[in-house]
Amino acid sequence: MRMTSQRKSILNLLSKTAQPKSAEMIFEELPNHTMNLSTVYRSLDTFFAQGIISKSTMQNTSYYYINQKNHHHYMICLGCQKMYEMDCHLDHIAQDAANEHHFKITHHDMTVYGYCADCQQKNIEK
Ligand SMILES: [Zn+2]
Ligand SMILES: [Zn+2]
Repeated sequence: MRMTSQRKSILNLLSKTAQPKSAEMIFEELPNHTMNLSTVYRSLDTFFAQGIISKSTMQNTSYYYINQKNHHHYMICLGCQKMYEMDCHLDHIAQDAANEHHFKITHHDMTVYGYCADCQQKNIEK
């Protein structure tokens, strides 16, 4: 992959925050608008395919985040869209399945959806 300065600035932006960001958010936050939105999308697709970033999708919008050394996943509240980090225990499970099918894993992705304690409470009160 050619690491253009445009791509570098996207990765820089994502590595500065733990908060997953949508392509639109990244586009808005890029320092000088040298890139159009479709370039941002294309770069994110490339990063995702190479396992550099992961994504979680909520209401048809994908939120991207860097795959860090301490790989983790997110739980997302469907009520208030708050995101919680969670540890990953998928590696062994995925590897077992992969071995069975002679599948070569590059990376994996998982998001857990539901309602946080606050939103559960609100639903009860309604
Ligand atoms: Zn919530
Ligand atoms: Zn994982």
